[in-house]
Amino acid sequence: MIGWSMDAVLQEECGILIGEHFLYMQFDVTVIGAGPAGLFCALHAAASGRRVLLLEKMDAPGAKLLLSGLGQCNITHDGGIENFFSHYGDHGMFLKPALCNFPNRHLIQFFKKHGLCMVTDENGKVFLKTRRSADVLALLLLICNDCGVSLHTGEPVTGVVSTNKSFEITTGRAVYRSTYLVIATGGTSYPATGSTGDGYRLAAGMGHAITEIAPALTPLSITEFPFADLCGMSFSAMQFSVWRGESKMFEKTGDIVFTHQGLSGPGILDCSRSIRSGDIIRLSFIGSERRNEFAKKFAERIHSHGSRQVKSVLFSYNIPQRLVRKILDLANIPSDCTCAHLSASLRSRLILYLSGFPLTVGAPGDFSVAMVTRGGVSLDEVNPKTMESRIVKNLFFAGEVLDVDGDTGGYNLQAAFSTGMLAARSIIKKNHDRDAMNTSSCT
Ligand SMILES: Cc1cc2nc3c(=O)[nH]c(=O)nc-3n(C[C@H](O)[C@H](O)[C@H](O)COP(=O)(O)OP(=O)(O)OC[C@H]3O[C@@H](n4cnc5c(N)ncnc54)[C@H](O)[C@@H]3O)c2cc1C
Repeated sequence: MIGWSMDAVLQEECGILIGEHFLYMQFDVTVIGAGPAGLFCALHAAASGRRVLLLEKMDAPGAKLLLSGLGQCNITHDGGIENFFSHYGDHGMFLKPALCNFPNRHLIQFFKKHGLCMVTDENGKVFLKTRRSADVLALLLLICNDCGVSLHTGEPVTGVVSTNKSFEITTGRAVYRSTYLVIATGGTSYPATGSTGDGYRLAAGMGHAITEIAPALTPLSITEFPFADLCGMSFSAMQFSVWRGESKMFEKTGDIVFTHQGLSGPGILDCSRSIRSGDIIRLSFIGSERRNEFAKKFAERIHSHGSRQVKSVLFSYNIPQRLVRKILDLANIPSDCTCAHLSASLRSRLILYLSGFPLTVGAPGDFSVAMVTRGGVSLDEVNPKTMESRIVKNLFFAGEVLDVDGDTGGYNLQAAFSTGMLAARSIIKKNHDRDAMNTSSCT
């Protein structure tokens, strides 16, 4: 980790004491938040020769990056970048310019160039060969240091004011001046990592609208969850549908895991952004077969196997034995019930439970367990081609602070890196154009 003592900072930047604060010499670029978006933006802006200040509230930067992928860091996804756009709910098209400007293959090349190779798993998730998030963070910090980024840790930004020509950025220690400002403070999930929604307050203070914030990529608690004793049982490519009242909201196929309180797994996490308390999730344990077809075939089997136990018929559907026993129990069907003794009403109930077991969502998991935040800085007020605010000149946004959240599989880190890169490139271009204008007006 790179940190500076206050003395070193003072010497380095020749601060001037004003009241209780130090007013420092002007920076070209100040980035708030040293997560993946902020680090990437800062190092690229500094690599072009800008004087860059990176302010991080925690004592150590990149806390959430270290947790990513259970510490293994699923950094991006395989495949063409055009396949990414549909993985950010309704907001993928906003990210299109950023993703195309710095796609997954460029991210992979960037790390490769610096000695970190990637591997792709069978689901298309791209990881570091070492499977260590810490290696990604260490590399980003090393490059930041080499490029001359002034990284101040343990220094939360408490206020930002946009003046005519620059920004004044206040922390507990100082007031800084900067021509360009990038807010990369992340969302508000896993608050212990430092992402506590400060960026929303800072942006709102400068006139930006913040859309409704809610947990996303989060497990669901289920009211009176009947499968708690099967916690850990997982299902690949399970079909399920989500209902609000009488309306079917959507149908999906994905990997699901039973937890103590309810449901998790990529299939659930990816659509949790669209699920509300009180929604009904109907799980199908019968594979891809449609309910009517299943009901017909199941009834035929029951008729032709009168002496066989119902459970042994169900075992032949590749349903785990513990689950079969549980479902029979929940349907009030004795474990030794034979097909001949299965009444029409019990058969109907069994078919319902197997093809669309209804579970009522108690609540989506809160911010302490959600991997990302739904909502954020309203996209209407940010130029997707530059990441610059449409309201405040020279103000930029990068990463999860924006109203963008992606599916599991590396889509969130790719968005953080791509938006951080686009903000840096836009600032470099703006600065370049400004310098060119100044030069031509002098000659
Ligand atoms: C457990 C977990 C696992 C995940 N795994 C993956 C994965 O494998 N792949 C994937 O793509 N995504 C994953 N994600 C999501 C991904 O980590 C985030 O989307 C990503 O870190 C967002 O990057 P960011 O830079 O925008 O924000 P953050 O990483 O949240 O960084 C924001 C930084 O800003 C700092 N900050 C906040 N307020 C202030 C302030 N006032 N002053 C100064 N600094 C401030 C914070 O301390 C923080 O360091 C995971 C998330 C979690 C929680």
